[in-house]
Amino acid sequence: MRIRIVGAGPAGLYFAALMKRHDPSHEITIHERNPRDATWGFGVVFSDRALEFLRADDEALYRYLTPHLETWPEITIVHNDTRIPIAGNGFSSIGRLELLTLLYAYVEKLGVKILFGSEVNSLDALGEADLIVGANGAFSWIRTQNEAKFGTTTDWRPNRFIWYGTTKAFDSLTLTFRATDVGVFCAHHYRYKPDRSTFLVEVEEGTWKRAGFDAMAPGDTIRYCERVFAKDLEGHTILSNNSYWRNFPAVWNERWSFDNVVLVGDALRTAHFSIGSGTRLAMEDALALFKAFRECGTSDLKAALARYQETRLPPMKKIWDAANVSIRWYERMDALVGTLTPVEFAYSYMTRTGRVDHAEVRRRDPQLAAAYEKLHPEVAAP
Ligand SMILES: Cc1cc2nc3c(=O)[nH]c(=O)nc-3n(C[C@H](O)[C@H](O)[C@H](O)COP(=O)(O)OP(=O)(O)OC[C@H]3O[C@@H](n4cnc5c(N)ncnc54)[C@H](O)[C@@H]3O)c2cc1C
Repeated sequence: MRIRIVGAGPAGLYFAALMKRHDPSHEITIHERNPRDATWGFGVVFSDRALEFLRADDEALYRYLTPHLETWPEITIVHNDTRIPIAGNGFSSIGRLELLTLLYAYVEKLGVKILFGSEVNSLDALGEADLIVGANGAFSWIRTQNEAKFGTTTDWRPNRFIWYGTTKAFDSLTLTFRATDVGVFCAHHYRYKPDRSTFLVEVEEGTWKRAGFDAMAPGDTIRYCERVFAKDLEGHTILSNNSYWRNFPAVWNERWSFDNVVLVGDALRTAHFSIGSGTRLAMEDALALFKAFRECGTSDLKAALARYQETRLPPMKKIWDAANVSIRWYERMDALVGTLTPVEFAYSYMTRTGRVDHAEVRRRDPQLAAAYEKLHPEVAAP
């Protein structure tokens, strides 16, 4: 098969690896607009067991990636000055660039060609292909130029976020909420290598406006955030990497392919970063698409692409729904921080997607469940 992939992110790279490993006669080219050593962002996290799908389906890659991950058994919620560690929420993280570099080496060794610095902006520019894979991320032109065919909806969420890093090495994945005179600031922060952490700042729209971020220079924005989180950063600086304020687009597609064109990863659907599943979903899409070809063969493209959507939709939709409920929890952060005690707030975080009930909180973190039962004895009633 002649396969052309646009985008060398986790989805495109992993799909290429799976297809080539299964059948080395496939001729696979990936077009990546960035140079080999440049990418946006700092580290990404995988929620607990997020790499388990790899262990089950692809132990070789699992063993290749896991030594490079930082892992923690718990997360910490900081409600102003009160720290509440929550057990039973394991996470692992890795620098995005490190993950991509590992995957580049992996696929190139298999014989896949990656063309770096190759920005492609039309299907015609890809030449003859049996299959075109749109793996070009959340703002995929393959999707936006064909929205009617894919049945795309994009729901722009109101909160603002900015993806920074810092030299401080945090010792747990932490969500820090600090009330200020203009509103609540939330930082999602975690170490992804010994001397670096991701430091993503999120605020409600009103807070963003009251702080004056719409008209603030990048350097002043960093200094403002450093002041808000001075107690957490302990003298460390915030690092920028083309960082700018954004809104999150919750993207969905009713149809995942047309003709010989198919979407995977963030191009197919975006899942809010607060559930730490974007990279995992992207790789699971790749795996599902590969399995569809393995089961249906490569000669019946239509059947394989239909199988991909049919088998991948149910598990993926579950996580996508949870991500969208999680987004809305952050959109109420001012009210939640203002009205809940630290224990209630941590409990609210744990149960925010509706997938964790009181019995599950008790199982994961008996201490938090007991502290919450003291305030709300009714939840402990049989
Ligand atoms: C602020 C933020 C924080 C995040 N945090 C996490 C996290 O903690 N955990 C997690 O799992 N996920 C996180 N994610 C999401 C994660 O980065 C994505 O879900 C994941 O990278 C999706 O993989 P992908 O391969 O679909 O797309 P991407 O990783 O976006 O890769 C797409 C690639 O396509 C290339 N490309 C785009 N257009 C073209 C073109 N015209 N021609 C050629 N190449 C092109 C891009 O340069 C890019 O390399 C976060 C995302 C954001 C925005």
